[in-house]
Parts: sequence; structure tokens; C-alpha cells
Amino acid sequence: MIYADHAATTPLDPQVFEAMKPYFCEQYFNPSSLYVQAQEIRKKINLARAQVADLIDAQTAEVIFMSGGTEADNAAVKGIAFACKDRGRHLITSQIEHHAILESFRFLESQGFEVTYLPVDENFRVSPEDFRNAIRPDTVMASIMMANNETGTIQPITQLVSIAKAHQIVFHTDAVQAITTCPISVKELGVDALTLSSHKIYGPKGAGALYMKADTPWIPWITGGDQENGMRGGTESVANLIGFGQAAALLQGQQLEWEKHGENLRQAFIYQLQKSQVDFRVNEAPDCRLAHIVNVGFKDMEGETVLMHLMLRGILASLGAACNTSTVEPSYVLEAGKVDRAYIRGSVRFSFGKETREEEVIHIASELGKIIELIQKVDQEAGGN
Ligand code: PLP
Repeated sequence: MIYADHAATTPLDPQVFEAMKPYFCEQYFNPSSLYVQAQEIRKKINLARAQVADLIDAQTAEVIFMSGGTEADNAAVKGIAFACKDRGRHLITSQIEHHAILESFRFLESQGFEVTYLPVDENFRVSPEDFRNAIRPDTVMASIMMANNETGTIQPITQLVSIAKAHQIVFHTDAVQAITTCPISVKELGVDALTLSSHKIYGPKGAGALYMKADTPWIPWITGGDQENGMRGGTESVANLIGFGQAAALLQGQQLEWEKHGENLRQAFIYQLQKSQVDFRVNEAPDCRLAHIVNVGFKDMEGETVLMHLMLRGILASLGAACNTSTVEPSYVLEAGKVDRAYIRGSVRFSFGKETREEEVIHIASELGKIIELIQKVDQEAGGN
């Protein structure tokens, strides 16, 4: 099997697994209990919090653990909007956000907020000028993702943040995909809130974090006990959080290495694909993208058919966003980027990881050449009958 779907999830790093193991059957205590064994667990969770904070250059107290990127996105968007509602009810996001963000904004619309969904250009980028023009006196919050999960496009976050700051707009960014290969300093970026997910960085599924700068207007979204300093109720998923901390520590300082590795794989993959007779386009922003996500549109093809043929050859990839695979709607991200319709339906996302080898991506590309030829032949024969 060749796994080329790292933007959907990554395998657990064996070192992460080792760090998690004691917290299932041996050190299973509830960190809120008073005995010393439980307090030791609390210390371990706080160590994990420090590891995640270090990864993004934040203060430890600014990291709130959650169940994943989806929860952190919901908590950020809804929690900030409700905290600011007396100042204004207009919010800004983009058309190509992950569903966790888009659905949170749709919910807010149902609660009387107004939302501007910014378009993107043919490079899938939000224009700072469009952002500035969308701002109204009652705009209180904006959420624009740092890098897109389907195309890997990196947004001009620093520029957007400086515009937001000039208008006292609280700014959140979803950095779930970006963190893999972009070193992030929340201080340098100037964002007020930022989302991370553990399972995209070789940590366990079911853990994530919301960075919330001190003094940012925000109300907790999951209420209950006073875990996470009263900012997110619920007994901590101890092993997952410790694993997340370990994954963050392993990623620390490695992002540019991963980026270089991703770029080499990307080039080898595209070079091999170009050798075939296949008509394809790469759905990307050439100068500002995550190297390891390669979204390829095959002309007049059905992405599902290509994926199925790949699967039969032991190659696992994805149709844009993994959580969308139950629907066969064309990708809203590619549509927003005005990709020619002839290529949208046949778009497949390949995403490589730190353990992916060059021979593997070359193999995928050469198999793709054969698959597309085969599908075309079958279509021609069917058309001839
Ligand atoms: N945001 C982005 C950009 C993502 O790619 C994903 C997952 O694919 C999420 C949020 C959701 O994260 P999780 O799977 O941890 O809920």
C-alpha cells in the first residue's frame, strides 16, 4: 500500500504512541481528582500544553485543549462572535474555508449575524483589498484559514491581520494544515486565535487546540467542569493530549525539513506525470502553497473513478476534502478558484508525508498515466458501441 493522503490524517508516530501508552491501563486517573497520582497526570497535561504552545510561540496559558480542529474552529468562531455581539454583528470569512468554519458561520447567520464570504482569485487566494472593502463599522470578527486543505494555498495572513487590527476586528486563523510545514509564531503573525489539530502532525485523532491570545473577547463554547481553566469543560482525553504534546515536540524545528522533503516529492511526482500523455493541471498557487499537497485535475475524468483505480493498485489518495467523500458535488474550493469545469470533476488530492519516499510518488505518477489511458480507452469503446 502507498499512502498519499496525509492531509486527511497522518499515521501515529511510534514515539508518540510510546508516550501515550502508560495513560490507558496504568495511569488512568482523572486529572481533576485530588490524590497525588491524579495531580501527576495534570502536570503531564500541562507539559503537553507547553509543548504545543512552544510550537506556535505562544504562552502556555493561551493554549486550550479541545477534541480536534473541528471543535476548536467552532469554539473560536462562535465564541468570539457571541462575545462581541454587542459591538456588532458582521463577520468575515472566505468561500474556501473548511466545513468546520463554514458551518459555524452558517449557524451564526441563523442567530442574526451577517457574514461576508470573500471570494478567492485563480490562485485560491483572498485579496487583502477585498478584505478591506468588506469591512463595515459593525464588523467584529474575521476567520481566514492559513492554508487550504484541498489545494494547499497559503493565505496572506500577515497582511489580513494588519488590516483587521486597524479596524479592531478579532482575527482567527485555522492553521490545521499549515502547521505541518510552516513554522508559526502567533506573536509575529499577530492573530488573536488559531486552530491546531493533532492528527495532521503524526499525533492521535481526537485532540486539538485553540490558541486564544490573552484578553481576546471570547466565551467558552463547551461548558461543564472547570477543566482547561474553565475554558472547556469535560474530562481531559489524557493519552490523546499527551500524544499531541509529543507530536508537537517532534515537529518543533522540523517544519522546513518537511517542507523541503515535500517539495522534492512534489517535483518528482509532477515530472513523472508530465512524461505521460495525460492532460492534467495542478490546482495550486505556484508561489504560496504547502509543498506536500498536490491537487491534480485530470481533464474530462471523474475523480472517483481515478481514485477507485488507484485503490485497486494499493494507492490511497483523496477527492479534495476527505470529510466530503460521501457527496459527489464538485469541490467548492476549486469552483471558487474558477478552475475550468473540465478539470474540476477529475481532481484528486495527493498529500505526502515525512515517511513518503521518492520511488513511491514516481510509482503513483506512472500508475496514473496508465489509469487515465485505460479509462479513456474504456470510454472510447463504450462510446463506439
Ligand atoms: N480545518 C482544516 C483546514 C482541516 O483540514 C481539518 C481536517 O481535515 C479540520 C479543520 C478539522 O480537524 P479535525 O479533523 O481535527 O476535526
